[in-house]
Amino acid sequence: MKTLILPIDGQSLEMAKNIIISGGLVAFPTETVYGLGANALSGEAVRAVYAAKGRPSDNPLIAHVHKDFDITTLVTDIPDYAALLAEAFLPGPLTMVYRSKGVVCPEVSCGLDTLAIRVPSHEGAQRFLKAVNLPIAAPSANVSKHVSPVTAEHVFDDLNGKIPLILDGGKCTGGIESTVLDCTGAVPCVLRSGLVTRDMVAQVAGECDEYHMVEGERVRSPGMKYKHYSPRCKTALFSYNDRFNALDEYKTCIAQGLRAYIMCDAAVAADMGDAAVLNLGVDENQVAANLYDKLREGERVADILIAIAPQKQDGVMVGVMNRLTKACG
Ligand code: AMP
Ligand code: MG
Repeated sequence: MKTLILPIDGQSLEMAKNIIISGGLVAFPTETVYGLGANALSGEAVRAVYAAKGRPSDNPLIAHVHKDFDITTLVTDIPDYAALLAEAFLPGPLTMVYRSKGVVCPEVSCGLDTLAIRVPSHEGAQRFLKAVNLPIAAPSANVSKHVSPVTAEHVFDDLNGKIPLILDGGKCTGGIESTVLDCTGAVPCVLRSGLVTRDMVAQVAGECDEYHMVEGERVRSPGMKYKHYSPRCKTALFSYNDRFNALDEYKTCIAQGLRAYIMCDAAVAADMGDAAVLNLGVDENQVAANLYDKLREGERVADILIAIAPQKQDGVMVGVMNRLTKACG
């Protein structure tokens, strides 16, 4: 199958709509990462998503809808705090899990009685979702366990030949996957951290819990049990306090003739002398936005990627550290 990369316009949206309606897959940009979309009402289309990615069949997908879509057709028991959160953060990088009405096919939620819904703010995503006017089941548009894609080229590198169309909306500005928030309980609970932080949710909802996986317990966020986001090169991860040990490790690798690179934020980079650095940027939002791009650059240029954690560890950095640990830990 030939994979086209097209800018988002009337013609490519018409093509995307036809592909989705006939059960095919379309990759599309969002403000977080690129998604691999299928008609959430078609079991066959959704199974094709799992097949194209090589995704485990017990890791549920998020249903994406445009901002005027009536989500009460898909889910029920929406608590008052969820309406407040939707008002505050949607469209945006927040996925909310509700009790499902069973309208979307069971493959989307892997048989769970809940459904995760997201309303992305990216203009291209909105245009695509409006054009199809269907709930679109979409995971990130990468091969399972690889680094999530933040450009159309990243999607092409992973899925060339497996999907007919990639809608190109430029580089994603958010950079890490959406916050996943369980809205089925009395208090919202963060299942996966992201750009909408626990504190931001608590400020609107009054309180907010955070889920931590417990060995032996039924997992509430099936995706979190998998190793994700791994670049295809050797990696090492050092804490901020160990940054000079990381520099020593870098020098040892260089002395052995390895192509070593350090990946860190701008403040740490200032301590790294003339070492080869993949610089993630100055603040937490820049670091999130650049993380996957730099991991993919790292696997292209490096034999070993030596990551150093930023000093700041709260807010958006919770989500960044979660990905960094899975990628390089
Ligand atoms: P991805 O599509 O790769 O960004 O992963 C989607 C994430 O959403 C995974 O971590 C899933 O476990 C989570 N998710 C999707 N649907 C549900 C659901 N119904 N309940 C809990 N978590 C979900
Ligand atoms: Mg993913």
